[in-house]
Amino acid sequence: MRSIRFLVGLTAALCTTLAATLLVATPAQAAPVFKAPFPCGQRWTYSHHSAEVRLALDFVRSDGGGTAGTPVLASAPGTARRYYQAGGAGNYIVITHGGGWTTYYFHLAAFSVADGATVGQGQQIGTTGSTGNSTGAHIHYEQLFNGAGQTIVINGASLAPYPGSYNQRHLTSDNGCGGGTAFWTWGTGVRVRTDARIAAPTVTTLAGPTLVHVLCQKQGDTVTADGYTNNWWSRLRDQNGFMTNIYIDHPASQLPGVPNC
Ligand SMILES: [Zn+2]
Repeated sequence: MRSIRFLVGLTAALCTTLAATLLVATPAQAAPVFKAPFPCGQRWTYSHHSAEVRLALDFVRSDGGGTAGTPVLASAPGTARRYYQAGGAGNYIVITHGGGWTTYYFHLAAFSVADGATVGQGQQIGTTGSTGNSTGAHIHYEQLFNGAGQTIVINGASLAPYPGSYNQRHLTSDNGCGGGTAFWTWGTGVRVRTDARIAAPTVTTLAGPTLVHVLCQKQGDTVTADGYTNNWWSRLRDQNGFMTNIYIDHPASQLPGVPNC
């Protein structure tokens, strides 16, 4: 949970104290943890050609499997909108992730979700095709911040420098492999507990920003810390316990695309 700040109770604080709290509560990491837009375990190659829009990459399979008809997956949770552009993007989906971030998926053969659907990370949103201005089945994929194309980052690692043709660089997907939705945490000494209660025993402590996979979330004890108040807790796949959503690096108190426990 980020950026929505609860200042109730701080009205009597001195200016210097408030400034210190704001500094402490502002994490460095803002982007969602994006994963590959194709299924777990598959290997695809990617390229950026000279006529490409923004900082897009085109992906085709390079593991022997067919590209056409392969599921296209949401690379992070959000809200999916469906569009069609003849002679351009064809059937395409835009997912809004919050915090100014969106991802684009062009040339789909078919849509797999309703317009406006809330989608989870790793959920199938369409199938790979060649609709619009395309010479063969591929996924045209983009990551945008406030409408501007960004260098594509998967699992926190940049895919730059972009190759100008296929079969120079490859990406193997871990999207949807182990269940759960990936997020970064922020803050230091964040406790993971056996249940969504402040008094529950500590399972482990996250020393600093950590990549975690949230299996589900539920309401528990209300926690107030670093200027935030929230009663939603996330169940972590790898740590096998619960942490307050305050220290999940996402603007929403209740995480979108994550089921309730
Ligand atoms: Zn493209």
